[in-house]
Amino acid sequence: MTRPYNFSAGPAAMPEAVLQQAAAEMLDWQGSGMGVMEMSHRGKEFMSIAATAEADLRELLAVPAHFRILFMQGGGLAENAIVPMNLSRGGVVDFVVTGSWSQKSAKEARKYAAANVVGSNEADHHTTLPSPAGWRLSSNAQYLHLCSNETIHGVEFHELPDLKALGSDAPLVIDFSSHVASRSVDWSRVGLAFGGAQKNLGPAGVTLVVVREDLLGHALSICPSAFDYKTVADNASMYNTPPTYSIYMAGLTFQWLKAQTEGALTGIAAMEAKNMAKARLLYDFIDGSGFYLNKVAKDCRSRMNIPFFLRDESRNDAFLAGAKAAGLLQLKGHKSVGGMRASIYNAMPLEGVQALVTYMRDFEQTQA
Ligand code: PMP
Repeated sequence: MTRPYNFSAGPAAMPEAVLQQAAAEMLDWQGSGMGVMEMSHRGKEFMSIAATAEADLRELLAVPAHFRILFMQGGGLAENAIVPMNLSRGGVVDFVVTGSWSQKSAKEARKYAAANVVGSNEADHHTTLPSPAGWRLSSNAQYLHLCSNETIHGVEFHELPDLKALGSDAPLVIDFSSHVASRSVDWSRVGLAFGGAQKNLGPAGVTLVVVREDLLGHALSICPSAFDYKTVADNASMYNTPPTYSIYMAGLTFQWLKAQTEGALTGIAAMEAKNMAKARLLYDFIDGSGFYLNKVAKDCRSRMNIPFFLRDESRNDAFLAGAKAAGLLQLKGHKSVGGMRASIYNAMPLEGVQALVTYMRDFEQTQA
């Protein structure tokens, strides 16, 4: 059976091989007589699943030894509160606002700290990225937060800022929910990265946090124990019952990612090359068309989330109905932006993007 191509922004399509393996192991994980959902998180079977997932992720993303990997709950939005509760010390924190997600983060942080917006692309309707050289950094900021890929507006930092070079010792916090594991991360520039799993890592329910060890142990006294990074780290993410099945599925996804190849490249480097090729195909088609339009500046276009418009928006419903009939699902844009959005995460094969481009070309011709 060939399945339709699913362009959902999240929860999003998963690699088919991962779904098939999970199905095969549903009733009996590796001769244990138990499905993964039925295992104690303290038993040796699940402990080995979690330890393997963590080790595979560390290898895949080349996470240095002085960073801890945490599997938490609450998603990206809970991290908007958990990060300031752990890192702000009740002081000043800086935000770069580049779209809906960083905007939400700054608003939530104000409950716990004095949040300054030091850079913004609001004047450009979130279609550009403000250059780090122009950020007005606070001298006493406990950290600087940015969203490295804005899922709704489709802008992505292709290079993370070097805060030290800007004269700041503040750790950089990134929300990498919607492009985690799509490319490598320069950990020398990062203090903490967080992301929900439901786009590129697995099903909803688990939130990945990668945090530099020296940032642990400074939580505000009001911080719930289950959300104190130090407590979570000291208990190997098992202070309370973790989202076991989501961790298992993420672990299968990490193995799938490790097995990726592209020419001589493997793992994340292979995935990154595939993602660049997929994004290039779609952007080149849109840019070459007089019928479709992408409004994001070329140097900061997301490789994962590609919002686009039909120049004649009265054709939107026909476009979406035709797409669905052609096996191309969930292309409707976010309501705050309108138009269309193709999310082409790791699990989307090149063939899916080719099918989308073919459909878009055919649709344009039928409208002539
Ligand atoms: N940050 C980004 C960049 C996102 O794309 C999302 C979800 N779309 C969130 C945060 C919120 O994540 P959650 O729904 O898991 O809280």
